[in-house]
Amino acid sequence: MARYTGPKCRLCRREGVKLFLKGSRCATEKCAVSKRAQIPGQHFRGRSRLSDYGKHLREKQKVKRIYGLLEAQFRTYYEKAAKNKGVTGYIFLRQLESRLDSVVFLSAFAPSRQSARQLIRHKKIMVNGNVVNLPAYQVSVNDKISYVSLDAKPQEESSFPAWIEWNAKERNVNVVRLPEREDIGYEIDEQLIVEYYSR
Ligand code: SF4
Repeated sequence: MARYTGPKCRLCRREGVKLFLKGSRCATEKCAVSKRAQIPGQHFRGRSRLSDYGKHLREKQKVKRIYGLLEAQFRTYYEKAAKNKGVTGYIFLRQLESRLDSVVFLSAFAPSRQSARQLIRHKKIMVNGNVVNLPAYQVSVNDKISYVSLDAKPQEESSFPAWIEWNAKERNVNVVRLPEREDIGYEIDEQLIVEYYSR
């Protein structure tokens, strides 16, 4: 599947915020956003005021980049969410956060969502005892996610979000519930994305 292969820090600089695409480097002073928040490009002359359309577009691009998706995939998530009963913006984010690659990243099995995708494609991750090689697999309540190698364990158990738990005895991660809106730790205004797609 096609994916963005250019410099990741450039994406953060374009959005003007940390998107945490490079694992542990993002928390260090080497982070390009911490060092230089300027929008990349030779002819940049300062941040101009965004139009309404610009604000909607930038929010959409930011979230798409956080989850490492291409436009068609991202739009499909929105369309599925819009068909569901409930708050479209929240359902949309919940689908993104419940992707297997996201859960593997949040469980600290991998330092970034991109590395998580690689692990999954290389058949290193199991769900309920079966190898799953689809990064887009949607986890459900009570799913147990484990590393194929029994020795492997998450890097930092303490930073798990409240909806997933590390079971040290069984050496797997249990999905105790689906993520609530407040579990999604990025500053996102999902209503702008809903408005972008429903224009
Ligand atoms: Fe973004 Fe991480 Fe690069 Fe910082 S180090 S600019 S957060 S990808």
